[in-house]
Amino acid sequence: MILKFTEEAGAATCSLCGDSTRWTKGPRLVLADGGDTVCRGCGKRHAAALVALLDLAHVADKVGQQGRHLLTPPMEALLDLARAAENYCTSTPKRQTNADQVS
Ligand SMILES: [Zn+2]
Repeated sequence: MILKFTEEAGAATCSLCGDSTRWTKGPRLVLADGGDTVCRGCGKRHAAALVALLDLAHVADKVGQQGRHLLTPPMEALLDLARAAENYCTSTPKRQTNADQVS
């Protein structure tokens, strides 16, 4: 499974479970072999770190868009960004290993 950057929003059926999936412009999950669409649920089951990275990218994009028009982004947006960053941090196998060593 990989993240692919798409220029346009779209919809397709998940190639793993058959659920209908929609995406917006930006990164989305596809199979590395052939580029078939993968839904969020299947992504979480098979590649949780990629889904966390995808969420982080979407939140960062949203906060970046808001920040363009404001001197400082709203606290809620910053908290969303911090939460997405923490989710990504804890979803990567390497980080989990480091955390295990600390505790
Ligand atoms: Zn699926």
